[in-house]
Amino acid sequence: MGCILSIQDLKTSFYTRNGVVKAVEGVDLHLEEGKTFGLIGETGCGKSVLGLSVMRLLPRNARVEGKIFYRGQDLLQFSEGQMQRLRGKKIALIPQNPGSSLNPVLKIGIQIAEALQLHHRLPREQAWAKGREILSWLKLPAPENTMRVYPHQLSGGMKQRVLAAIGMTGAPDLLIADEPTKGLDAVIRSQVVAVLSQMVSQTKATLLVITHDLKVATRLCQQVAVMYAGEIVELGTAEQIFNSPRHPYTRALLAAQPVNGLKPLDGFSPSLINLPPGCKFHPRCGYAREVCRQEHPPLMETIAGNLVRCMFFDQG
Ligand code: SF4
Ligand code: MG
Repeated sequence: MGCILSIQDLKTSFYTRNGVVKAVEGVDLHLEEGKTFGLIGETGCGKSVLGLSVMRLLPRNARVEGKIFYRGQDLLQFSEGQMQRLRGKKIALIPQNPGSSLNPVLKIGIQIAEALQLHHRLPREQAWAKGREILSWLKLPAPENTMRVYPHQLSGGMKQRVLAAIGMTGAPDLLIADEPTKGLDAVIRSQVVAVLSQMVSQTKATLLVITHDLKVATRLCQQVAVMYAGEIVELGTAEQIFNSPRHPYTRALLAAQPVNGLKPLDGFSPSLINLPPGCKFHPRCGYAREVCRQEHPPLMETIAGNLVRCMFFDQG
């Protein structure tokens, strides 16, 4: 299978009153068709902006440079009309914050049926029946009842599954799920992960999961990229990243997992307006040396074939 999405040297900045926010700084990513890909990192590292850059759904003060090839065509050259024909049908985004992404004054069934009508020009009754079918397929209890309620009557996990259902209505071949498990408890989180994994295995869609939750990414994804301050700092198979992480930041993310004793990572992600020189992780890195404060490390290939942005990755 070929590459469905190829992101090359992507740079996304926002021009604000306080300065230029460099949210994505030279990212390269290649997603193989039919595979699942995880993009992880703390809040504010640029991962959601990357998803929105692909969808071309950024505010007007954003500037995007680089290339985003979807099946060989550069989306950054597309007109808004071309993008509208692509969104939902070819590439769909399951947005974060299920609460604010659903229309509070429309019943769930109407929202799903409208999405189905938009993509397939189905008559209303057929769209309704198909919507109910998708909900039951996503294991929502009592789908007909769910169709008849308003968003505020559903739990967070159910809203998340409704958004997944709306994402599926256009039968996209690339699905971008932004923080699909944020704010959910462990049980519901597992259910949402199971639903997403069932979705991709049945539809054969390619999945890009954007998450701060390393465990979710490694459970769902074959390939994982770790992002810090707008850049990829480590990339490899889920197994490599989970079992033998090389970058100090990836290691710190793993150490912060509940199973590893919730050891928090000190400090905060840097401001994207005022990035530190050298290695962007140096102010928080326990292994930083003088050279780390001056030189910006490139992504380097390790023996195992994964990529790491650390000058000392091979020194334990
Ligand atoms: Fe830490 Fe230096 Fe490696 Fe950056 S390059 S992650 S500061 S050891
Ligand atoms: Mg985000």
